[in-house]
Amino acid sequence: MAELIDIAIVGGGPAGLTAAIYGARAKMNTAVFETAFPGGQIVSASWVENYPGFPDGVSGADLGDLFAKQAENAGAVFHNLSPVEAIRREGDHFVLTVGKDEVPSRVVILATGAIPKKLGIPGEADFTGRGVSWCATCDGPLYRGKTVAVIGGGDSATQEALYLTKIADQVHLIHRREELRATQCLQDECFFHPQIEMHLNYNILEITGENGKVAGVRLRSKADDTEKLIPVDGVFEFVGVDAKSELVKDLCDLDAAGFVKVDLNGATSCPGLYAAGDVTIYELKQVVTACARGAFAAFHAAHWLETRGRGA
Ligand SMILES: Cc1cc2nc3c(=O)[nH]c(=O)nc-3n(C[C@H](O)[C@H](O)[C@H](O)COP(=O)(O)OP(=O)(O)OC[C@H]3O[C@@H](n4cnc5c(N)ncnc54)[C@H](O)[C@@H]3O)c2cc1C
Repeated sequence: MAELIDIAIVGGGPAGLTAAIYGARAKMNTAVFETAFPGGQIVSASWVENYPGFPDGVSGADLGDLFAKQAENAGAVFHNLSPVEAIRREGDHFVLTVGKDEVPSRVVILATGAIPKKLGIPGEADFTGRGVSWCATCDGPLYRGKTVAVIGGGDSATQEALYLTKIADQVHLIHRREELRATQCLQDECFFHPQIEMHLNYNILEITGENGKVAGVRLRSKADDTEKLIPVDGVFEFVGVDAKSELVKDLCDLDAAGFVKVDLNGATSCPGLYAAGDVTIYELKQVVTACARGAFAAFHAAHWLETRGRGA
């Protein structure tokens, strides 16, 4: 068994990386375990305009890199390409299964975030990677001069639709409700953008294809049940996220949708197990809130360890 650490952080997104900064600065032996490389979901955001300190905005990839660098400078130890496969309680500590290793830790901060929801409609699985995408930054450049559909009505959908207008000739923004949920300034930009056509109050029935690639989307109006087929070359889905909470489902309380229940300090119902960011319950799932929750979780985790006596 590996050496006992103070704080094991599972997930290197904004919540986990901020927890790492606070944990390491509290002089706790702090390690971050990340499935891939640090940064989290924000790495797939083309441009972030609402994180304080960057008046002209910053690319999601750069922001993720900066968080990771700061956590590393603070003294956190990174284990990249190291997905945590299981977490169990053993006596007064936890044991993380990471590949062939068993890593004991006094405290665990779960910051595994969320994964984009899928629509589950016909054509989605068939054309995933062949026209259906969840990342405009990654796949947008494939649609230069083409037509794409963006599905969703929140900040991510509107923001990424605007980004895609810089590449594609036309963007169809499709939302199942009569009104968008996005921040008003993003809504205004989309409504007045000459390359964006809005399709509000439409259910998306199917992604159609031709020659193994996306060819269109079939929609049904919720107002009058009429259907229409819009020819598109690509479909980008931004319809919310599912919590990545499987690791702790038998250790602490989750809500009905699978999000981890935490108190204001980030503590779960299991002593010593904290959680922060998109994997937990709260409405405004953003970088700034994930960072704040990561800070709370690490601050209180360190305090909890100190009050119990670190060597205990
Ligand atoms: C396209 C897009 C655009 C966005 N734009 C903005 C924006 O402009 N402004 C804004 O504020 N927010 C934006 N967001 C939302 C923001 O990215 C998230 O709210 C934020 O990243 C949540 O941070 P997190 O650390 O909780 O989780 P995540 O960012 O999801 O990070 C979780 C990390 O945990 C890792 N992980 C998961 N399971 C394991 C495991 N078992 N073992 C080890 N590691 C694991 C994952 O690989 C991931 O790196 C956007 C999101 C998307 C998808």
